[in-house]
Amino acid sequence: MKRIAVLTSGGDAPGMNAAIRAVVRAASYYNLEVYGVERGYIGLIEGDLHMLSRRTVSDTIQRGGTILRSARSEEFATYEGRKKAALSLANHNVDGLVVIGGDGSLRGANELYNDFSIKTIGLPGTIDNDLGYTDYTIGFDTAVNTAVNAINNLRDTMSSHQRVVIVQVMGRHSGQIALHAGLAGGAEVILVPEHPVDFDEVANVLLRGNAVGKTSGIVVLAEGACPLDEAMKELKERTGLSIRSTVLGYIQRGGSPTMSDRVLASRLGIRAVELLKENKGGLVVGVKGGEVIELPIADALAIKPYFDEKLYEQATMLSL
Ligand code: ADP
Repeated sequence: MKRIAVLTSGGDAPGMNAAIRAVVRAASYYNLEVYGVERGYIGLIEGDLHMLSRRTVSDTIQRGGTILRSARSEEFATYEGRKKAALSLANHNVDGLVVIGGDGSLRGANELYNDFSIKTIGLPGTIDNDLGYTDYTIGFDTAVNTAVNAINNLRDTMSSHQRVVIVQVMGRHSGQIALHAGLAGGAEVILVPEHPVDFDEVANVLLRGNAVGKTSGIVVLAEGACPLDEAMKELKERTGLSIRSTVLGYIQRGGSPTMSDRVLASRLGIRAVELLKENKGGLVVGVKGGEVIELPIADALAIKPYFDEKLYEQATMLSL
C-alpha cells in the first residue's frame, strides 16, 4: 500500500482533528502518502481529495470540529453512490481509507469494503459513546466535560435562588453523556433513555433534597429520556418548586478536545495506519480495558451499545 485517504463523516466530534493528525503523521512515518477527503462521503463521491502533509495538520490537535469538514450523504447510502466513491479513490490511486465517524459512517465504510473491496478502517468519532465495541469514542470525554462545566455554572446560580434546573444533554438513544455528566456534576437526578422516567420518584427525590436543606437541585435529562417540556410540567405540578430548564445543545459538540480525547484519537489513528500498512481492511479500531483493539466492522456494529447499570446505581447512591 502506497497511498491512503482519510475523511470525517456524520456528526462532528472534538478530537477528530487529533485523529486526522495522527493518521497523517503515522502515514508519513510509515512512508505512505495521505489524501484528505473534504465533507465526508459527499467529497468522496465528488472526488474532492487533496494531499495532506505533516505541516497541513500543524496546530490542529487542540481544535474542535474537523478541518476536513463533515457531512451526511444520502447518495452514498446507495450502491451507485458508493460506486462513484470507489471510482474517485481509484482515480487518485488510493488503496486504503480511514473513516472517522459514528455508527452510520462506519456502516458506510463496511459497505465500501464489501461492495468494492476498498480497504477501509473505521475510527469511532462521536460524542455519544454509543458504539458497544469500544469503551470510549473520540469526543465523548470532551462533551461530558463541557456538560459538567455547564452544570457547575448552573449550580452556582440555582443555589443562589433555591431553584431546581433541568439540564438537557445530548443522547437520543444513549444515556452515556447524561450518566457521566450527572455523576461528575453531582446531579440529584439523572434521566436516561435506558430507563423509564418515573416522575413521582423524581419529584420525591427533589422534595427530599429540599427537606434536608439542599439549596439547589440538578436534573440531568438525556434528550431521549422524555421531552423537556413534559418533564418541566410534571415536576412543577408534583413539587411546587421553582424549576428552570437549560438545553445545552450544540455547545456539547464544540470546544478544544480534552487530554483523554487527544490521546485516544492519536492511538487509534496510528493503529488505523498500521493496519492499512499490513494491507488489512473492513476493520474498526477501538479501545477495550485500556488496550487498542481491532475487529471486523460488521461484528463491531452488531455489539449493542453498553450502558453501565452499576455506575447508574452508584450515581443514584451518591445523589442525595
Ligand atoms: P454518524 O456517522 O454520526 O452515525 P450518520 O448516521 O448520519 O452519522 O451517517 C453518516 C453517513 O454515513 C450517512 O450520511 C451516509 O452517507 C453513510 N451511511 C450511514 N448508514 C449507511 C449504510 N447503512 N450504508 C451506507 N452508508 C451509510
